[in-house]
Amino acid sequence: MPLRSDPNCIFCKIVEGTIPSRKVYEDDEILAFHDIAPWAPVHFLVIPKEHIPSLAHVTPEHAPLLGRIMTLAPRLAAENGAEPYPEGGFRVVVNTGEHGGQEVHHLHLHVIGGPRPWKKG
Ligand code: AMP
Repeated sequence: MPLRSDPNCIFCKIVEGTIPSRKVYEDDEILAFHDIAPWAPVHFLVIPKEHIPSLAHVTPEHAPLLGRIMTLAPRLAAENGAEPYPEGGFRVVVNTGEHGGQEVHHLHLHVIGGPRPWKKG
């Protein structure tokens, strides 16, 4: 069954390859790529390939996918320059909706790390 996609969504276009990205990780369900405007030495996004508009849209059926995304975060953080816990570590952010500061309406996990200071946060 084809994955749900939104033709007007910038992250769906990244999934399809019509907008380029600097890939960090890819499998059948998940894509990770560097943020175009990083706040910190490490800043990449982990997204489901399926168009889920936000964390407010997830249902119990998404639990395995979200679990996979969360368990990938520490591995990809370490592979992309985040220093080890506890002296190092990283931040995971999921902006959700207008009040949550969400700008791109395709679910994404920000993974942010590396030595401080950061531009934000
Ligand atoms: P949010 O405010 O959580 O919706 O964040 C959206 C993030 O997507 C921002 O940090 C942007 O810098 C990032 N972003 C937007 N367009 C692109 C792109 N084409 N490639 C990589 N990151 C992007």
